[in-house]
Formats: sequence, C-alpha cells, structure tokens
Amino acid sequence: MKYYIENFGCQMNDHDVEKVSTLLHVAGHEKVGEAAAADVVIVNTCCVREKAEQKFYSLMGRLKTLKRRKGTLLGVTGCIAQLEKENLGERLPFIDFSLGPSSIHRVAEAIESATRSQRFLDFSDNGCGASLHVRPQTAAGTLKAHVTIMKGCDNYCSYCIVPFVRGREKSRQSSDILEEIRGLAHRGVKEVTLLGQNVNSYNKGQKDLSFPELLSKVNDINGIERIRFVTSHPKDLSRELIDCFGSLEKLCEHIHLPFQSGSNKVLGLMNRGYTVEEYSRKLDLLKNRCNKIAVTSDCIVGFPGEDEKDFEATMALVKSVRFDGLFSFCFSPRKSTRAADLPDSVPREEAMRRLQELQSVQKAITREKNRALEGREAEVLAEGTSKNSTEELTGRARSNKVVNFKGARNLVGELVEVEIIKGCANSLKGARLMQKEVCDA
Ligand code: SF4
Repeated sequence: MKYYIENFGCQMNDHDVEKVSTLLHVAGHEKVGEAAAADVVIVNTCCVREKAEQKFYSLMGRLKTLKRRKGTLLGVTGCIAQLEKENLGERLPFIDFSLGPSSIHRVAEAIESATRSQRFLDFSDNGCGASLHVRPQTAAGTLKAHVTIMKGCDNYCSYCIVPFVRGREKSRQSSDILEEIRGLAHRGVKEVTLLGQNVNSYNKGQKDLSFPELLSKVNDINGIERIRFVTSHPKDLSRELIDCFGSLEKLCEHIHLPFQSGSNKVLGLMNRGYTVEEYSRKLDLLKNRCNKIAVTSDCIVGFPGEDEKDFEATMALVKSVRFDGLFSFCFSPRKSTRAADLPDSVPREEAMRRLQELQSVQKAITREKNRALEGREAEVLAEGTSKNSTEELTGRARSNKVVNFKGARNLVGELVEVEIIKGCANSLKGARLMQKEVCDA
C-alpha cells in the first residue's frame, strides 16, 4: 500500500516517523509525498502546546473529506493518541487505527487490521520498551543520524504533558546503542545525535554505562566525526558530563540547556528542581571547561503566578547569559498537568507582550553573537546545496550554527574549514579556507 505521514512536534517525533517508515518499508509498503496519493495516511501528533493540538484537529477535518472521497485509511500515532486513548476514536469516529508512542512498533499490524475494517488501538507499553529498539533505516549518503538512547521522563515539571504520554524513563542498553552507531558509521554516517527527553539521567540507577561513559565509547567509534545530544535537564547535568566538553574531541561544542524562567519563585512552581543560581553556576563550569561552547535554551513566559518582577528576572538572566539561541513560548495549559490548575493566570495579552519583549532582546543578542564570529574559523559538515543559492553549500558548524559558503557539490559529506565572513540573523556566511601549501624551500 502507499502511505503518507504528516508529523508534528519535536526531534523525538521526527525520529519516531523514521522508525515507522522503516517498519512500513520492511512490510512492503511504499512512501508517497502527499496525502492525496496515499492509501493510508498516518498523523504523528504532539500535545506539548495547544497550537499543535489545534492544527492536528483541523488537519483531521480535511483528511475526513479525503477519506470520504477516496476511502483512504487514517491512523493517528504519537502523543495525542496516547493522551486521548479510546476518547480519540469517539471524537474522530472515522479513524482506522491509533497507537501511542510506545506502540509504534505495531504500525504494520494496525494497517493490516484496518484493511479488514477492524479498528486497531494500542496505548500500552507492557514495560518492554519495544518501540525503543526499532532501528530506523539509513538511506545511502546519510551524513547525520539520530539515535534514541532513552525514552520517557520522571521529572513531572508542572506544565509538561510528556511524562503522561511518553511514560517513565527507560534507557536502552549501551551495547545495543553502540552496535547501532557502529553500523551507522559503517554506512557513512559522520554525525550522531543521542536523543532522549532527559539524556542526563540515562541509565540512572542501572548497572550499565553512565551517560558520560556512553559518550566516551561513542567517541571511540571509527568513522563517527561528531557527537551531539539533546535534551539536558539542568538539575541532572553532572560534573562528569561537563568534563566531557573539551576532552572528547568528537563532542561538538554546543549544549541545549532549557532554563524556562529566571525567577526562583516560578522555577519552584514549575517543579524544575534547580535555582537560577545553580543553573548559572553550571553554565560557568561549562564555559570554564570549554570557552567556545554555544548555549541554546528554552523559556516559558506568562506562567501562572509570574509577575512583572519575575519576568524582569527572566530578562536579566537572558541579558547576562547571552544565549546563542532561545526557543521561547507563552505558557499553554495542558490537561492533566498540575500547572493547568494553578491560580493567578497571566492574561493572554500580557503574556504576549512579555514574549515579544523577550524575543526582540534575544534576536539582537543572537545577531551580535553571530557578528562577533566574523573573522573566526569554523569546521562545517557540508550537508548539501543551500536553499538560497545553487552556488552555495550549507552545513552546520560544531556550535550547531548554520553556515552557508561557496563550494562545489563534491564537498558534500566533507568537514570543510571556513572563515566566517558575515554573521546574519539566523545563520553565518563563510568562505572556504584553502589548504595551506607546504613549502619545503
Ligand atoms: S524534564 Fe520536565 S519539561 Fe522535560 S520532558 Fe521531563 S517533565 Fe517535560
């Protein structure tokens, strides 16, 4: 059958789509580029923010029309499927199957059942973490790959739906992860990103490698040139992990470390488990260890109880840390979370005002930081032709910043040394550094 997947959400969801595609390919199904050409449409969902949820329901309205016209089978996977369980089938009676994130390994079975007009639902995990062990197929020429090392989260930040839909933390065995990465290296992958909701608590309380030990083993794999990981929780960022920066030569100098608020009162309400002072101390340790480390972060404004003073504390933190990039959002109450019932909600217009003020300050900081890189050298993994010009290649520096530079197609897949000639708002422009000639005279 021909299938099409529409995806919402984070890198974990992107990776789940790669897994689903692999499973369907193995089962003999064929991927197509648009819903109208498919026999089966799968929507992989996100419920972290209200907006993604609204987009999902309006998409399902359009797909209902497609189903009526063509008889297309419709399936829903991911976080909304898990959150709503059987209720989703009542709200969207036209769907043919629905699978939670821990049940995606059953996708081929779900389609098979749907073809017999039997609706297929599975939101269980059975504690075996089967979906965690599915290895996505790597197409020839793939340079970068994600590798899931754990799933779920035990932190229960008061605003977050993830522990309810992705379950408790479960780590993959290090031997299995390392075998997968060796296989990727063998097929030409040069950069791996280790994925998990909170990679810092990988194998917590288990008799297996710790996260820093795992990084060190990945660093030893021939063929892998770069290592990244996402996401880190500040409270679990250990001294051992900080020490990996600057000592493991393949570990890229970038960390995504969400701070969420610059106010200790709000951090307490969020149940984040650290103070602003502790967060800042860890950043200082990181910068002392590796002075060129790029730091990006996440922040929520308009959290219930956040007053003007709390918001000013967030602004002060942003101005003093000077993040390389920041993903910022207005608080979005999620059903089943504690924050949804907290008093003192911030009016929408006020939250929007705070968000705009924050984003405009951060925009200026990002641009200044990019400009400050002019004249510096950077190593770029050339990934392909730039969107803006066919004469330019695009890739990422070790700092994770996008760099565009003039270069021939045959450089794709290479680590190229460039000089940064311009720092733009969201990317850098580079010029290739020619190899210095060796002169024996
Ligand atoms: S650490 Fe907090 S924000 Fe991150 S996934 Fe877990 S509960 Fe959600």
